[in-house]
Amino acid sequence: MPRIENEETRRAQIVSAMRRMEARGLNRGTTGNVSVRHEKGMLITPSGITAEHLTADQIVFLDERQARAADALAPSSEWQMHAALLAARPDVNAVVHCHSRFATILACAGKPIPPLHYMVGVAGRPDIPLAPYATFGSAALAANIAATLQTGFACLMANHGQIVAAPGLSRALMIAEEVEEQAAVYWGTLAIGGPNILSDADMADNFRQFSQYGQKR
Ligand SMILES: [Zn+2]
Repeated sequence: MPRIENEETRRAQIVSAMRRMEARGLNRGTTGNVSVRHEKGMLITPSGITAEHLTADQIVFLDERQARAADALAPSSEWQMHAALLAARPDVNAVVHCHSRFATILACAGKPIPPLHYMVGVAGRPDIPLAPYATFGSAALAANIAATLQTGFACLMANHGQIVAAPGLSRALMIAEEVEEQAAVYWGTLAIGGPNILSDADMADNFRQFSQYGQKR
């Protein structure tokens, strides 16, 4: 039976996701933002509040016209890329964005993550692509990300960071952590001559293994 989550639960989950990102070193200060599909719109973190000070009632609901209640806080300045992904991908319900260090190093060097380890496949495809640069918070950036993430669950964002869109929030967080780990591994291999890349056949085998591995939710 799928769990039915109410708005209060989702708000609390977003707060704990922000705290977990901070605790794992994926996020610092007021950077990073999280959204979850809710009714025809989304619940999203507010602009300019640190994970430490964030409370569930500060999470902003934006309806399908991107309108919010009169007493709601301003949403994350990066709300447009969350809205674009939720609109373009009916298979995803949660979006996580952060400036985690190694993902950001690669994004600033213009280097997507190649298939160098089977865990790259956790992001849903053999590689982790790089979305082209556009100004933070812009509609152009939202369009670049939606175009890059037509398949798979994660991409790097040129000169900015990483973004994950997944069926659920806990999975999105897990993928963001793994993107950061794979970014660190790739960065390390680049320092000692570059990675040995897995073949398409190897990655296809890995996806077959993933389909049989672990819990399905
Ligand atoms: Zn950002």
